[in-house]
Amino acid sequence: MFAHNIATNVDFTLVVCDQFIEMKFADKNIAQNLIFQAVNLRNKWKKLLDLRLQASKPTIEDKDGLISDANRLEKDLSWLLVEFFKSETLYSIRRLLAADVKLLYAGPGRDTDCVLDLNPFSNNKEPCKPNHDKGGVDLTDFLTYNCLLDLETMATTFNTHDGICPYCDTEHHLTSLGHLAHMAICVQNGETTNRHEIEDDTPHDPNGKKYYCEVCDKTYRLSLRDLLKHKSTHLNG
Ligand SMILES: [Zn+2]
Ligand SMILES: [Zn+2]
Repeated sequence: MFAHNIATNVDFTLVVCDQFIEMKFADKNIAQNLIFQAVNLRNKWKKLLDLRLQASKPTIEDKDGLISDANRLEKDLSWLLVEFFKSETLYSIRRLLAADVKLLYAGPGRDTDCVLDLNPFSNNKEPCKPNHDKGGVDLTDFLTYNCLLDLETMATTFNTHDGICPYCDTEHHLTSLGHLAHMAICVQNGETTNRHEIEDDTPHDPNGKKYYCEVCDKTYRLSLRDLLKHKSTHLNG
């Protein structure tokens, strides 16, 4: 998880850390959730180090605020770490040999067809940047997506599959990058609206699924029928 560089195939089932350790995941949804959490964890950890650094400077005014921010992040971090290691993942893990490393990357100019997609780790604001060395695209300074040469899969970045978002419990049919993008939205939404997440101007079913509507920017708990009804109100609008 704290590798200097992480490279993945098209659906995140094949992951190579530091050109040295190869991990294979049996389930692409679990693999995508893990990668997403790992990146979030890394970003939070980096933020924590920055906060610590700032708090140690004598010129900073709001020291107490910084320290409580750091404490909160540290709690989030330890919670995420536990989540990360307790998740049941079926994967094989092996050490790569020098001969494997030569054939590791697909190289540039091949499967860069998701370049036009927005990068989930830029708050879905910036397009993915192609990696001209390994192929694929850089999602963070340590994570390169879709650069591994994976002869076992016929999947492309356009292929969609079903997956349940661990944050909102909703089932989606999206591309691999699309699932990550959705999770990024869900996490961001959860962090800003955690306390008042359910608002009451629509039918409310306590046994229903939690559903986040991007159009209203609200989270509802709806039965399937009410969910479809709610979605159709936006179509007519
Ligand atoms: Zn979600
Ligand atoms: Zn809505």
